[in-house]
Amino acid sequence: MCFLRTQTSVGPVAGNFKSHGRVRIFDTTLRDGEQSPGATLTHGEKIEIAQKLESLNVDVIEAGFPIASQDDFKAVKAVSQTVRKPIVCGLARTLEKDIEKAWQAVQSAKKPRIHTFIATSQIHMKHKLKMSKAAVKKQAVEMVGFAKNFCEDIEFSAEDASRSSPEFLCEIFEAVINAGATTINIPDTVGYSQPNEFGRLVRHVKENVPNIEAAAISVHCHDDLGMAVANSMAAIMNGARQVECTINGLGERAGNASLEEIAMNLFTRKEFFETGTCINFKEIYPASKMVSNFTGIAVQRNKAIVGENAFAHEAGVHQHGMLADSRTYEIMKPETIGKISKLVLGKHSGKHATKAVLEEMGFFFSGEELDAVTARIKQVADVKKSVRKRDIVAIANEIVKGNKNEVI
Ligand SMILES: [Zn+2]
Repeated sequence: MCFLRTQTSVGPVAGNFKSHGRVRIFDTTLRDGEQSPGATLTHGEKIEIAQKLESLNVDVIEAGFPIASQDDFKAVKAVSQTVRKPIVCGLARTLEKDIEKAWQAVQSAKKPRIHTFIATSQIHMKHKLKMSKAAVKKQAVEMVGFAKNFCEDIEFSAEDASRSSPEFLCEIFEAVINAGATTINIPDTVGYSQPNEFGRLVRHVKENVPNIEAAAISVHCHDDLGMAVANSMAAIMNGARQVECTINGLGERAGNASLEEIAMNLFTRKEFFETGTCINFKEIYPASKMVSNFTGIAVQRNKAIVGENAFAHEAGVHQHGMLADSRTYEIMKPETIGKISKLVLGKHSGKHATKAVLEEMGFFFSGEELDAVTARIKQVADVKKSVRKRDIVAIANEIVKGNKNEVI
């Protein structure tokens, strides 16, 4: 049960944009994430990921781009028939054939959504679309209206919004909301924006689109300059109430904002943000592992939240503090995200950490014996950098037997 579930209003609050409604998590691992170079998922894997996203309690699953390929169409359709709790969304350009195909794919979902997009920046309109502003606006309005014939829940994205004129953005958002859009999305498509600037853009839209109360404000940030999560958090501070993100931050080029980082920022700093999500945190680590295994894209060891080292403590002073009270060096508990903390024994490890690790493995040493094991582990670590479990067992057995011969 999500205690924030009832707070769904998206209307403006004078002077305070923070404490207004919870943040909806829109996961696009199966669409934008699957567009990552090198990441391909089988049909079965997509279904398993969708089920994992459902247990993670995301609000929206963007399952694919149905017109892009027959495989995408089939996957979106299968996800629509499999999950029941989240909204299932299919992507479509502002073209009738795309929207019809998207609807065919999502119509069996319990909660279907059509997500349609067109670019609004000068550079995209001129060089890619070869369309004038007026033509882009007209097509957006007509196609949102067309999609509305099929589906109540319509999201409209202004592609490359962060490089678009804020005035034009407000104009097109007002028009598509009048045509029936229920979510308007502000993407930083090329990962160009900076947090203060992006926050200002979201606030500008919130303050200057007269009918904005009829729609939720969403953002979709890319990580080309490493700002995807920071920009998403700035957007939330300024009134965005849907964030688009992916497991492990997968996505085009440098990737999208990472779901686990956004969710844990909102959880760990809830007093600061005065809002939260309905994410089931215990599924974060298992979901990360699943996506990494299926896509074959490893998570970097030092990645925030889900990296192998995210909760590992090696320095002796840190390990001593951790054993006394984990809050000394841990702002989050690994168990919260479904992971067990890991003390790594290395050359910086002290006696306290060594004792704790040994006891976990069933060896109970004290006094001189403990000193001897600690010293021996440091010797091994000097040579091998990290000490494996079997090395520790061998060292412990060596001490137990009083046998100081070489064991490694
Ligand atoms: Zn994207």
